[in-house]
Amino acid sequence: MQIETKTLPVVLHKIVKEQSSDLYDLNVDIFELIVEATVASLNNTSYRSFDLNKEIILTFDDCNFSDYEIAFPMLSDKGLTAYFFIVTDWVGKNEFLSKPAIVEMHRNGMLIGSHSRSHRDLVKASPGLVKSEMQYSKYFLEDAVGSEVVACSIPYGRYTRQVVETCLDVGYQYVFTSDHGIWTQGGGRVPRNSIHGLMSELRVLRLLRANQWSQIGWHMESLSRKIAKTILNQKKYDELKEFLYGLRR
Ligand SMILES: [Zn+2]
Repeated sequence: MQIETKTLPVVLHKIVKEQSSDLYDLNVDIFELIVEATVASLNNTSYRSFDLNKEIILTFDDCNFSDYEIAFPMLSDKGLTAYFFIVTDWVGKNEFLSKPAIVEMHRNGMLIGSHSRSHRDLVKASPGLVKSEMQYSKYFLEDAVGSEVVACSIPYGRYTRQVVETCLDVGYQYVFTSDHGIWTQGGGRVPRNSIHGLMSELRVLRLLRANQWSQIGWHMESLSRKIAKTILNQKKYDELKEFLYGLRR
C-alpha cells in the first residue's frame, strides 16, 4: 500500500500559558515544540529523532486572541507563516482577535481565511444560509485586509459535498476540513490534523511524523465512519457522532 506524502496541515485552537480544562486549549510548551518541528520539516531535517519528511502547515481556527498574543510573535520569530481562520461575527469581542490585530498579522505575512460568519453547523443550515455565511465572511475579511481571501475552514469540521461546493462557488479555492490526512493535491478540499490539549508530547510528535502506519490508521478511521453511516440512518449517525466528538470544534 503506497500512500503519497507531501504536506501535513495541522489545526490548532487556543494557545494557553496556564493549565486549562478545555480539551482544545493547547499549552504553550507543546506549541513551542510544534513550531520547532515545523521549522525542521521545512528544512527537511529530523526533530528529536523523528524524521519529518513532509512540510508541516499550521492553521488556527476560532480567532482566539492567543493567535495574536502568543502564536504570531513565536511564528514571526522563526520566520514561519500560518493560516488563521476567522469567525467574522466574533471579531473584536472578548478573547477574540480585533480587526487591527488581523490587519497587523496579515501585513506581517500571516495568511487570513474565513471560518464562516457565525460558526454555525453548516450541515444543518439551508443552502442559502451556507452561501451567506461563507460569502459575507469573505467580503468582511477582504475589506479588512485589502486583498483576496482564498481559503476557508469548516466550523466543527462538519460538511457535505454541497457545503464544499458552495464554498468553491462563492470564490474560495481551498476548503480546509478537520479530516485526518496528507495534502497531495492543488485546490479544493484540504485535510487537517487536529492537535489538542489532551495529547502528550510523544503523541503530537507521532502525528507530525505521520508515518505510513498513522496514515493507514486514518484511512481505517474514515472507512469505519463510512460503514457506520451506511448501517445507521443519518439521524442516528449524527447522534453517535455528536456523542463521540463531544467538545469538538
Ligand atoms: Zn471552529
